Amino acid sequence: MRRVEELLPGVTTVTPHARYYSLHAYVATVLSARDDLAPVDTLRRCEVVFAAVSILHARRFPDEHRGMAQAHGQDIISASMSDGELNVAKLAAARSYAQAKRGFLGPYLASERLLGLVTPGGELLHPGPNADARRLESAFEGLLDLALKDSIPCDVLEDYSSLCLCGRDARERGWLRSLMFPNQLMGEAAPP
Ligand SMILES: [Zn+2]
Repeated sequence: MRRVEELLPGVTTVTPHARYYSLHAYVATVLSARDDLAPVDTLRRCEVVFAAVSILHARRFPDEHRGMAQAHGQDIISASMSDGELNVAKLAAARSYAQAKRGFLGPYLASERLLGLVTPGGELLHPGPNADARRLESAFEGLLDLALKDSIPCDVLEDYSSLCLCGRDARERGWLRSLMFPNQLMGEAAPP
């Protein structure tokens, strides 16, 4: 693991989900653009909706998610969706989908800071120098509106597969890859 840190700084060995990097950067840009949102609650709500979309996408296309680890909080969120409704407010409340106050930010934070996606600040975090607000807004289009609802019918969430953690339809794929593996891209672009 130490070698990974040396060769691929910012690439974490403690979680398998690259898309949480983008998600947290998105939340940071949203919080910096709006002062009417409660930072921790907004983060938790976004993580709940993100996980719920991912659960539904995996149910619908199991082959495309084979071998992929579950979204954080999946067991609790999945069980609560059995009535066809995602109760965002209830799941995002303290000690529901996540025990930690800041949801699942903790395991990612050091890596996200190293990659310039977020910086510590305010009540939670600020966007880092590499957080591309327009790109993130496009990649997570609709997420904030969903997250601010207290309850969402699951069939509405089915339409947001671009938010799934599998990244199949993720618009920020190339951008995130270039942040994680800048040398690889430089190598590809270099003349023989
Ligand atoms: Zn998916």
